[in-house]
Amino acid sequence: MSHRPFLDAPNAPSRGPVRPLFALSAVVLAAAIFLFDTYAPIEIAISVLYGIVILLAAPLFAGSALAFVAAGCALLTVLSYVIVHGTDMLGAAVLRCMVSLAAIVITTVLALRMQAAMAVLRASEHRYRRIFESTAVGIWEEDYTGVAALLREVEQQVGDDLEAHLLAHPELVARCMRRARTVDVNAAAVRMLQATDKRQVIESLPDLFLPESFGLQARLLAAFMAGRDGFEGANAIRSFNGERRSVLIAATFPPHMRQEEHVFVSVLDVTERSKTEQALEQTRAELAHVTRVATMGELTASIAHEVNQPLAAVVTQAEAALRWLRRTPPELGEVSDALNAIVLQGRRAGEVVRRLRAMSRDVEPSRMPIDINEVVQEAVALLRRELTDHAVELRLALAAGKLEVAGDRIQLQQVVINLMMNGMQAMDAAPARVLEIRSRHLAEAVEIAVVDCGRGLPEADMTRLFTAFFTTREHGMGMGLSICRSIVESHGGRIRAERNAGMPGATFAFTLPTHAAAIAARPDDVAGSAAARHGTA
Ligand code: ADP
Repeated sequence: MSHRPFLDAPNAPSRGPVRPLFALSAVVLAAAIFLFDTYAPIEIAISVLYGIVILLAAPLFAGSALAFVAAGCALLTVLSYVIVHGTDMLGAAVLRCMVSLAAIVITTVLALRMQAAMAVLRASEHRYRRIFESTAVGIWEEDYTGVAALLREVEQQVGDDLEAHLLAHPELVARCMRRARTVDVNAAAVRMLQATDKRQVIESLPDLFLPESFGLQARLLAAFMAGRDGFEGANAIRSFNGERRSVLIAATFPPHMRQEEHVFVSVLDVTERSKTEQALEQTRAELAHVTRVATMGELTASIAHEVNQPLAAVVTQAEAALRWLRRTPPELGEVSDALNAIVLQGRRAGEVVRRLRAMSRDVEPSRMPIDINEVVQEAVALLRRELTDHAVELRLALAAGKLEVAGDRIQLQQVVINLMMNGMQAMDAAPARVLEIRSRHLAEAVEIAVVDCGRGLPEADMTRLFTAFFTTREHGMGMGLSICRSIVESHGGRIRAERNAGMPGATFAFTLPTHAAAIAARPDDVAGSAAARHGTA
């Protein structure tokens, strides 16, 4: 697929200015051979040289036309014989004539075979050229010979850890990229970069990279030098009109230790997809916020109680303190106890208000390391009164230690609260009301399950539970589970509903990747997974 002219049709012989030259040489040579063969007093099989005429004609005539030229050469050979020897069959001369005819036949057969092979090759080149030009993926063909030479020198100095060295030396990476020579690019690459033509793209490889893509380039170069098959990653490049484009790149490296260091880099523009994903994420966050506020509305009574209870206690303790003060002499020890209790209750009320404010604030979702057990505890704290009102016994079976995930504390709290509220509501008519929350470690994930012993899940509802606006409750919105699913999935997790085995009620469980697994799956780490896929990591 290099930058050399391709023939229009797979079977077309050579074109251009060489054609008449070849034709003329062939005719002159044929005439010269004929004259020598007929009139020169030498007794060798000179007409063997007709083979050269056939080779000269091969690029000009295909198939039967070439066979026709060969027949002409054979005819001239026989004609020379007849002119010189008449119809006498002289042993040595006949033999020379036969050898020449055999040479003509063999050369013709070989030339025809070569033509057939060339036709297949041209067809295949033509096909690949069409794919190269018509694909929607931008393709760069790069010559890394200069890069390889430079990095071999660097390798000799730094030893095995080339990747770390490159990551620590952005100027070296930039130098390497300046040494990469673009051999060819396809039309999709020109379009993607809003360039005027191929030449503009070919001449400006280093200008395409944004500073933040240096890490990816460093890893690509290290993978190239390590002799891997390829490299993949997510990157950002700058188009010629200054726009930033989000791209996925896949580089294919040449087999190791080859003379030619040609690297093919496929670049897929995912800018529009990224924008859509961002818009979707924002809508999701807004919807989550709205339903959170709606949930808060549903919880007003119990929240008011959560704040009122400590406030009432504050008032009682303050009255008691006043009474102890009015005594003569004042009971200062009792006053101090009452004041301590006031501080404690004040803090409790403050904590409830803090949680509420956090729940109702509209902030960008974050991906911080958080302990999911703590999230459960906080949700439980907010719903304590609700549990009492519904006469629900809460059982916590949380895994020991921290269960760290990367996520948004408030959004995940919302998931747990929604599942707990649903569980409580499902048990309204149940004789025994036990709500259990379990947490556990899985291989690279954590799982939270909310188990109730309520009305259970009818078969017909199973597929609709997580769809928006599906509700069986009189005043239900049918958004709770759908929001839960979108929050969990935006965290890279899964949520599911199951009927409890051998007992009434339902279990809603969700898994989230552990913090470590979530970090490993970051887009700019695609390289790691790609390397693993190539089995060379
Ligand atoms: P809403 O609570 O407003 O109805 P949800 O999306 O939270 O919206 O729930 C949708 C429906 O799923 C509920 O109306 C109910 O029929 C069913 N559901 C949810 N949780 C449970 C549960 N724990 N047990 C039985 N049914 C449930």
